[in-house]
Amino acid sequence: MKADQIIKNAQIYTSDKNNPKATALVVKDGKFVYVGDETGLKDFEGPVTDLGGKFIMPGIIDSHMHVTIPVGFEYAPMGDRIEPDGKQAALDIMAKYIKEHPGEKRYRFYMEKRFLKGEDIVKEELDAICHDAELQIQEGEGHSIWVNSKILQRHGITDDTPDPIPGLAYYVRKDGHVTGNMYEGATEVKIILDCGMELTDEQVDAALQRWIDFCVEYGVSAVFDAGLPGDMKFHEKVYKRLVALDKQGKLPIYVDGSLVIDSERVAEEGLRELKRMQREYNSEHLKVHTMKVFMDGTQKIHTAAMVEPYVDVHTTGSTAFTAEGIAKVLKELNEANLDLHLHTVGERASRTVLDGVEMARKEMGDNLHVRVTCAHLEVQCDDDLERFAKLGVFANYTPHWHSGDTSVSATWLGEERSKKQFRCRTVWDSGATVAWSSDNIVFMDFTPWNPYLGMEVGMTRWITEKTRNYPFNVAAKVFPPENERMTIDQMLIGFTINGAKQLGIEDKKGSIEAGKDADFLVFDNDLLTAEKEGFSYNKPSEVYFGGKKVN
Ligand SMILES: [Zn+2]
Repeated sequence: MKADQIIKNAQIYTSDKNNPKATALVVKDGKFVYVGDETGLKDFEGPVTDLGGKFIMPGIIDSHMHVTIPVGFEYAPMGDRIEPDGKQAALDIMAKYIKEHPGEKRYRFYMEKRFLKGEDIVKEELDAICHDAELQIQEGEGHSIWVNSKILQRHGITDDTPDPIPGLAYYVRKDGHVTGNMYEGATEVKIILDCGMELTDEQVDAALQRWIDFCVEYGVSAVFDAGLPGDMKFHEKVYKRLVALDKQGKLPIYVDGSLVIDSERVAEEGLRELKRMQREYNSEHLKVHTMKVFMDGTQKIHTAAMVEPYVDVHTTGSTAFTAEGIAKVLKELNEANLDLHLHTVGERASRTVLDGVEMARKEMGDNLHVRVTCAHLEVQCDDDLERFAKLGVFANYTPHWHSGDTSVSATWLGEERSKKQFRCRTVWDSGATVAWSSDNIVFMDFTPWNPYLGMEVGMTRWITEKTRNYPFNVAAKVFPPENERMTIDQMLIGFTINGAKQLGIEDKKGSIEAGKDADFLVFDNDLLTAEKEGFSYNKPSEVYFGGKKVN
């Protein structure tokens, strides 16, 4: 058979459990037609490359990142990161900056809540340092902001504005008055990215190009876009451009798109919209078939839903759906052949999803074929760890988060629970399909969405000085439990074939197998034996997508 490319003398990690290792492969018409040893090459003719033992693996699949949110951030930068010593210092730093930079329409800062040392900022204090212009401070993890009155006015937010999802996505109030602090995407995203609808196609394309360049450079061949809460118009505006770029042959990445819905209340409408989007945004490398739900929020602002209350405020947070609501929407998604992906940080968020799947399974048995994915999984109940395997629910972790200082989260989780986070190894060993992701929300800085960083921290549970990361993320020791550290094999499988299974593309992508798309990466060094500390500095020398060299 005539072939387009023949590679021999390589060390091929296939991610195919029936044929895990190979030394030769053949590509024709964008697909692998042979994977095995050199003896099988006699049936093929075409250009032959001797790789001299170099390492090859399938293209990386990042199974939870954001494609549309960062397009907005390209034009609405998060601003200067500040590390004040308490609230007054924060106000002083910002006041000084504003004085030195007069005439801006909106001042933006970026700060972790812990620097306020337990104090809260209210709009009156922000108005005092900035009354003629807009002022916005984004919290470090991206789930909350503080704004001054000028921004509240522009967006028509008053004391009477209802909360999108009480207890989960809401405007913080004091004595009935909004304070300018707001929690979760359904309140804040449309404010942070309010420049989005003014962007031209060229601006959107330029932002996407930055993302495409990174994916190509680092070998990310497929992603799940976990969507954009609160502003569907902007989300779709970006999808329109993805389709346009794809039709021009400029999208060398497969994008599995989604539609975000806020709560059970809008599930019916969301389902209709999802079906419409599935029809409208359907090009070779963009497909939309997944409903995305923020089941809960984050630990730091106590919007992550817990079974046991937080130890400092004695609340448990809220979930966007009840278990019955999950069971009901699963039935509808099942009929429409669609999938479900949920942000589940707290133990009650994932438990509620598992309960809902269990109810649906009881009713539908093996007829239930919706792919259900719980993402992030920071805190899980012991009893729920094995239920992922039993119920066939995908577990998606964001491994570059598996480092840090447990004494910080102990202040709200308590000592014991704080030392039992991110138990991916236990879930993996129980037989569940575990996939890895970056949860990237910005294009301009690739540090956190570098997949080799995820692999490193997944293996070590420790960001050290040798890690490609910010100095402020370097941790003092391994994040417990130590026995939840993963092997390199598990990191590679979770970033390839398991991601493909979650996205429903395992018959086309995720492993180096005859018949699948020829998405593969060549490395000058062997990833299987590479140093774990500093693994984040790895990078492929050649990247192939659909048989074409794209880097
Ligand atoms: Zn996300």
